Amino acid sequence: MPTWDEMCAAAGEVRDLYDETNRRKLGRTWGLSDFVLGFTGDVGDLAKLVMAHQGHRADVAASAGAIGHELSDCLFSLMVIAQETGVDLADRFTTDMAALTARLRPSTYPRQPGESAPGRTAASLRPGLPSPAARPAPAEQGGPAMPALPSLLAVLAHPDDESLLVGGILAQHAASGARTAVVTATWAEDSHRAAELAEALEILGAGGPRMLGYADARVPQSAPGQPRLCDAPVDRVVEDVVRHIRAVRPDIVLTHDAYGQLTGHPDHRQTHRVTLLAIAASGLEHLYPDAGEPWQPAAVHMATHPHSAIADLGPLLGQVGKSVLSVPDSLANVTCDVRQWLDRKWAAITAHRSQVEGERPLPGILARLPEDVRHRILGTEHYTSLTAPSQPSPAPEGIGLTNRQAPGCSPRCQ
Ligand SMILES: [Zn+2]
Repeated sequence: MPTWDEMCAAAGEVRDLYDETNRRKLGRTWGLSDFVLGFTGDVGDLAKLVMAHQGHRADVAASAGAIGHELSDCLFSLMVIAQETGVDLADRFTTDMAALTARLRPSTYPRQPGESAPGRTAASLRPGLPSPAARPAPAEQGGPAMPALPSLLAVLAHPDDESLLVGGILAQHAASGARTAVVTATWAEDSHRAAELAEALEILGAGGPRMLGYADARVPQSAPGQPRLCDAPVDRVVEDVVRHIRAVRPDIVLTHDAYGQLTGHPDHRQTHRVTLLAIAASGLEHLYPDAGEPWQPAAVHMATHPHSAIADLGPLLGQVGKSVLSVPDSLANVTCDVRQWLDRKWAAITAHRSQVEGERPLPGILARLPEDVRHRILGTEHYTSLTAPSQPSPAPEGIGLTNRQAPGCSPRCQ
């Protein structure tokens, strides 16, 4: 992409040539209204090409080259109109987009001067399946479409898990314009932890709380009168999660790993289990038919801790009597560098004030650390990524499947 100055120079050269041509042909140069009419014509041509691109016009060949040419023509006209009217288009565009962003997504922070724009090409969750918009355009359309970050739904056990475990990528994806949401399995909606959660979610740009309202395994007063998550009928909790998956319709679901993270909290483990079951069920119309229209997420990313990444955190948890359950590095197949989003992630963690004040909760442990150590711990998020449990994958070789077809046979079981 050329710089704005280079684009202005290129446009100025074309404008000078237009002036010369029009003086010769028309006996006058083009004025502002001529450029506005020219722009209108360019937009009309662009509209035809886009309609053809979408399959609505068989009479027009819509190559990426043709669309690009019209877009470029439109931009040229706009640049000249801006110059004629004394508008600093580069400055105006940046200002207007920032204002629109703030208005449309008031829960995220406006960008600070000098802070770079979040990159829509930062496909930080690879390997994962991109959203439909991110899938490459067919070759005949002239190359890949604009990549976009996938939409995310995190399903986690407690208020604060969203900030500690997946806060970086939630912030990153929300800032890129991707949809993000968080389901929290325990604590009542009118509890102090729910209020802290709402504040953290606002900081992360992840919408309002979506709470299932079960009791924490170790804190009965977290949801008076409700069963503990671990004791609730699995079918009921799976339906709860399916309902949120179908409402949010995410590309990727985030949840805990099978260990329930480092400490093996029973609520984390149960949330892991019910979430995998919910993902498997969500796309099937005859399962939980009253929980919304079927929706099949493409992948699940399970927050985890590889052996090589717990040098700082392991001993700290050991000091407060907590276990340290990490996984072989080969299981953590997705690593996200979220250092750019650390300020927001830390602000979200500290919104859980009751946890920061405690001695044993992780937010409190982290708050007492030197900043550089804390940044090391929180700056990378690790995941085990799987395609959704109900999605077909190539049949494994050599484990005694009796109906395996030889190459070339019809793909029907005997
Ligand atoms: Zn937790």
